[in-house]
Amino acid sequence: MRIAGRKVGDGRDGDRVIPVFNPHTEQRIGSVPKATLDEVREAFETAHAFQPKLTRAERAGILQKAAAIIRERLDDVAGLITAESGLCLKDSLYEAGRVSDVLLFGANEVLKDDGQIFSCDLTPHGKKRRVYTQRSPLLGVISAITPFNHPMNQVAHKVVPSVATNNRMVLKPSEKVPFSAIFFADILYQAGLPPEMLSVVTGDPREIADELLTNPRVDLITFTGGVAIGKYIASKAGYRRVVLELGGNDPIIVMEDADLEEASSLAIQGSYKNSGQRCTAVKRMLVHEAVAGRFTEMVVEKTKAWKHGDPLDKASDMGTVIDEHAAMLFESRVKEAVGQGARLLAGNQRRGALYAPTVIDNVRPEMTVVREETFGPVSPIIRFRDIDEAIRISNGTAYGLSSAVCTNRLDHITRFVNELHVGTVNVREVPGYRLELTPFGGIKDSGLGYKEGVQEAMKSFTNLKTYSLPWA
Ligand code: NAD
Repeated sequence: MRIAGRKVGDGRDGDRVIPVFNPHTEQRIGSVPKATLDEVREAFETAHAFQPKLTRAERAGILQKAAAIIRERLDDVAGLITAESGLCLKDSLYEAGRVSDVLLFGANEVLKDDGQIFSCDLTPHGKKRRVYTQRSPLLGVISAITPFNHPMNQVAHKVVPSVATNNRMVLKPSEKVPFSAIFFADILYQAGLPPEMLSVVTGDPREIADELLTNPRVDLITFTGGVAIGKYIASKAGYRRVVLELGGNDPIIVMEDADLEEASSLAIQGSYKNSGQRCTAVKRMLVHEAVAGRFTEMVVEKTKAWKHGDPLDKASDMGTVIDEHAAMLFESRVKEAVGQGARLLAGNQRRGALYAPTVIDNVRPEMTVVREETFGPVSPIIRFRDIDEAIRISNGTAYGLSSAVCTNRLDHITRFVNELHVGTVNVREVPGYRLELTPFGGIKDSGLGYKEGVQEAMKSFTNLKTYSLPWA
C-alpha cells in the first residue's frame, strides 16, 4: 500500500496480508498488506499535516500527464484490471479509456473558475455591493472507499476530483481488486502529485473501516458500494459530510412502438457488459405485452451469441464475475425464480466464477432475482400492460439509480422523465450511459441525492465561501 507515496507493507506475510486471486485461473496473483490501525492513523495524520498549494495550472498539468501515461499504457492497465477482476479485455480496455477521460475532464474543470457574482442592487433594499463566491478545499481529509466492479474507474472518480480541488485523500480500495488502485496512485505520483495528497491503504474492513469513518481528521466520506454498508456508514459517520453511491435495480422499459432491434441490443449490452456488474446494469427488462414475444426471442438470440469465456481472449464479450461465491448466488436466485414459475430461456450454467449470460421470462416483481439487486449477467423479463403499470413496477423497488426507456412517443418520454423515481432517465440508451463529467447518482436506497461525476464531485469536495465588496 502507499502512505503518502511511501511503499508500506512489503515483505509482510502470514495473516497480515490479503491474497488476491485471478477469478478465472484461480491463481494467486499477489497480496496486499492488512493495514494496522496505527498505519491508517498515520495516513490521516500525514495527509492532514500537508497543505496543498498547487495552482490550477499545476493541478491540470498533473492530471493531463497522468491521462497521457494511462493512454500510453492502456494494455498494461487493461491487463491488470482483467487479472484481478476477471473482466474480459474488451471491458477492461473500455474502462482504461474511461479512466483517461476522468483525468482529462478533471484537468479541464480545474481550469474553469466556478465562482458566481451577485449584484446587490436588485431590490429597493439593495446596496452598492457585490457578493462573490469562491470554493476552497476541505479543512480536513477525505476518506474514500470503493467497490470491486470497476477496479480503476471507481478509484479515478474519487481521486481526480480530490486532486482537482487541492484536497488530501486516504483511499481504501476493495480488498478484491486493490492493485488497480495502487497502480493508479503510482501513475499520479509519477505525474508529479505531491505524495501527501493521496494515500492508498489496504486491509480488512472489519479491522480498519471504523477508523476510516470516524478518524477525527476526516471531514468527508465518499463511498461507492452496496446499500448495507452505505447505510452503516451513514449511521456511523456522525457530523461529517457523506457522499453515498449505492446499488441499483435499473429497468429498461420497452414500449409498444420501440424499435425492437435497437431495444434488444441495448438490453443485452446493458445486462452483460462488465459481466453485469455495474450499479447501472440493466437488472430488469420491462416489456409491453404486445411486443414481449418478439423482444424475448431477440434477447435470447443475442444472449446465445454473447461470447463468454477466457477473459484474456480478445474475442470474449464477457469474462468471469468477481468470484465463485457471486456466481453461485446468481445461480440460486435464478433457480428460485424458476421454482416460482419463471421460464429459463438461456444460461444459468456455471463453472467456477464463469457464469453464462442468462435469460428468464415470466418474471414477477416479487421474485428475489428482481426484488433484490442481482449484480451479474442475468436478464429477467417482466411483462406489463400499459405505461401506468410500467411506471408502477419500475418504481416498486427500494432502489432509484437510473433507467432506460425505448420509445419515440414524446408523451410517454415526458411521463417517464417526470414520474420515474430515479437519478437518470436515458431515452434509447442503456441506463449506464453517461459522460464521466455529467452529474450521476441515485435516490432512495441508491443514494442520498448528492451526485458524482467529475463536476459534481468537485463541488461536494469543497467549501463554498462568499465574500462581498463595496461596488460603485
Ligand atoms: P461492498 O458494499 O461489499 O464493498 C464496498 C467497499 O466497502 C469495499 O471497499 C469494502 O471493503 C468496504 N467495506 C466493507 N465493510 C465496510 C464497513 N463496515 N465500513 C466501510 N466500508 C466497508 O460492495 P462491492 O461488492 O464491492 O460492490 C458492489 C456494490 O457496489 C453493488 O451494490 C453496486 O451496485 C454498488 N455500486 C454502486 C455504484 C454507484 O455509483 N451507485 C457504482 C458501482 C457499484
